[in-house]
Amino acid sequence: MDTLHIIGGGMAGSESAWAAANAGIPVTIHEMRPKVGTFAHRTGDFAEMVCSNSFRSDDHEQNAVGLLHWEMRTAGGLVMQMAEKHRLPAGGALAVDRDPFAAAVTEKLKAHPLISASYEEVTELPSTGHWIIATGPLTSPGLAQSIKSATGAEALAFFDAIAPIVYADSIDMDTAWLQSRYDKGETEDEQKAYINCPMTKDEYEAFIDALLAAEKTEFHEGETAGYFDGCLPIEVMAERGRETLRHGPMKPVGLTNAHRPDVKPYAVVQLRRDNKLGTLYNIVGFQTKMKYGAQTAVLKMIPGLQDASFARLGGIHRNTFINSPTLLDAQMRLKSHPHIRFAGQITGVEGYVESAAMGLLAGRMAAAEIQGRALPPPPPETAMGALVTHITGGAEAKTFQPMNVNFGLFPPIDAKGGRRGRTVRYKAYTDRAKQAFQAWLEA
Ligand code: FAD
Repeated sequence: MDTLHIIGGGMAGSESAWAAANAGIPVTIHEMRPKVGTFAHRTGDFAEMVCSNSFRSDDHEQNAVGLLHWEMRTAGGLVMQMAEKHRLPAGGALAVDRDPFAAAVTEKLKAHPLISASYEEVTELPSTGHWIIATGPLTSPGLAQSIKSATGAEALAFFDAIAPIVYADSIDMDTAWLQSRYDKGETEDEQKAYINCPMTKDEYEAFIDALLAAEKTEFHEGETAGYFDGCLPIEVMAERGRETLRHGPMKPVGLTNAHRPDVKPYAVVQLRRDNKLGTLYNIVGFQTKMKYGAQTAVLKMIPGLQDASFARLGGIHRNTFINSPTLLDAQMRLKSHPHIRFAGQITGVEGYVESAAMGLLAGRMAAAEIQGRALPPPPPETAMGALVTHITGGAEAKTFQPMNVNFGLFPPIDAKGGRRGRTVRYKAYTDRAKQAFQAWLEA
């Protein structure tokens, strides 16, 4: 039986190895730590949690990440098993004792008769064999260079500059309106690809005051602030001058307020459709390092977003990731080098749980391929399926930025039934997902 080689023994690599080995495939994990470190990892263990010790909400009826936990548990994932074993009290969240957790994952993998570990840095994309690259947000520079040569410089990013993403159905369309600047676009759909939120002078001034006063996060030591003028945080733009935003992402030109055509807005915040389903919109040019609490409060000052629900908040981080929508096929294989799969955060998902889930999937897919079986991706109604569908084609490739799992990635439920209570709707999403996931596992 061919060996599956996995580069990176983080969240994704550990889960891939476990999934493939349990399917009967010999696995070698190539991990550079502890010989070569990163600025965030401290140990030589697999599945080290580099920052928070939480896998977020464990509520599998009302929360998309909780649902992902449920799917990983149902599929026999190692990360959830060891998280359960080292769980700490944390209300509805799944928090763990990080060092014993990583030690337990390491021990389990090393004890598996089909898994071996090779502690070395891989610096070249392999030319033959079966490989999964799961080197994460801090992929070593040598390997990143090799990936860049294979995919093209445009297709590999070293920082994410995430603008906040809003659920479309939480935007007040009695205040906001659909229009692209200067009505650009060939079709009516393109001419209405943006949602616009108008501001008066007083609203703009109050917004700038709040932005300047808001609490911000700092870059980690070693995580150089290497962002460029093209993606400056909005608060940095505001610090450069109170009018800078009004001449930048908040410029009001080429737009007419559909509700008040007679009143010219002083500033306009634009949101651009973020997925093909049209359920998510990102706030254009609003990458920010405001802390999450402050960010929500400031963003809700934008007329039309007063009741906004955020699928994810903004941020700027050191993060190596590929443009998966253009590079990967539905089997998570590099289209140009199909013997190589990508998994984890490098594919453009964000977070421990999402990364581990994509590892689980890539491990199962690789094992099936080696055994000559076909394993279709899980259906998009499941959390795992929604994520993999998003990164391998559902997301807009041009503006692709890392994504957490959220219900906006799922095919909408009861689209014609109007707004139902959120609790009922989320329960319907998770019920449908569980049924579809079970059916996929059984098939
Ligand atoms: P990792 O877990 O990073 O694993 C990648 C592995 O590949 C590492 O062990 C690395 O040593 C190894 N590797 C890299 N290059 C090579 C190479 N060339 N050869 C061999 N091995 C290599 N997510 C959260 O959910 N919550 C948080 O609080 C959080 N905080 C974060 C803070 C920082 C500073 C960073 C950078 C990320 C944070 N993340 C957080 C994101 C988190 O790192 C990822 O979600 C998760 O760890 C990604 O899993 P992964 O398996 O893709 O990568």
